[in-house]
Amino acid sequence: MEIFSKPDDLINYKKTLKGSVGFVPTMGALHNGHISLIKRSVQENDHTIVSIFVNPTQFLEGEDFDKYPKKIEADSKICELAGVDILFLPTKEDIYINSDEVLINAPKIKGYILEGYHRPGHFDGVLRVVLKLFNITSPTKAYFGKKDAQQLYLIEKMKRELFLDIEIVPCDIIREENGLAMSSRNVYLSPTERNQALLISRALKRASNLIISGQRDAKKIKEYMMDVLKEIRIEYVEITDRDFNKTDEIKIGESIILIAGYVGDTRLIDNIWV
Ligand code: AMP
Repeated sequence: MEIFSKPDDLINYKKTLKGSVGFVPTMGALHNGHISLIKRSVQENDHTIVSIFVNPTQFLEGEDFDKYPKKIEADSKICELAGVDILFLPTKEDIYINSDEVLINAPKIKGYILEGYHRPGHFDGVLRVVLKLFNITSPTKAYFGKKDAQQLYLIEKMKRELFLDIEIVPCDIIREENGLAMSSRNVYLSPTERNQALLISRALKRASNLIISGQRDAKKIKEYMMDVLKEIRIEYVEITDRDFNKTDEIKIGESIILIAGYVGDTRLIDNIWV
């Protein structure tokens, strides 16, 4: 496995490669969710690049940027074992090279609802770094988890609207056996908080059971979910179509049910695609 930190070194090395390139951008503290994306890329491409970069521009003032878990040695081992060819480990200064940079704005509406409403500016930072990483790695395919559903939607939107010649591959959410969606932030949870966090996937399960038994009314489904989520400081429970327009009625194959909330000081998100 080759390791690069300087964008130009990776750009030059990439020119020597033949065949397809899969790219998996991450912020590290790798878990089975990340590993599933990496394995899929290794399977589908001649070369796989993984980046680990805790991107400062997507964190808001007061969020957990400074304490975001870092496990670089374990992460490199995981990448090597999973068959990654190139690990990209830039510093903040390698990525942000000028204090007066060309910027990219998230769309004014879809970038500022749900996650974007509660974390205003978050998606400007996400799209800015993802575009930089796409330009450095120029992949054939890039892999993103449905766990960050709105992020995935906005990256696909950026790809279409900026005419990026990259296939965006959505990957299923990986969960612990008990249903908890895997997340690097789960390490912040105490044992009691872990139990509370389970209510989030339980509420989504409840929603899917209601839908299976014929319920289609979004308002009713949200009410049932809120009942399960009483102990959690919920930021939103929402039902949208695949373009993130709020919907009153579930349409099978076209809807997403999303939750964001705090368990203790830890902000968690989860969703199901129905
Ligand atoms: P992060 O390191 O949190 O920025 O995540 C890097 C990528 O892994 C993103 O595309 C996430 O959506 C994806 N990811 C994170 N957690 C999961 C999970 N539990 N299942 C599937 N993909 C995930």
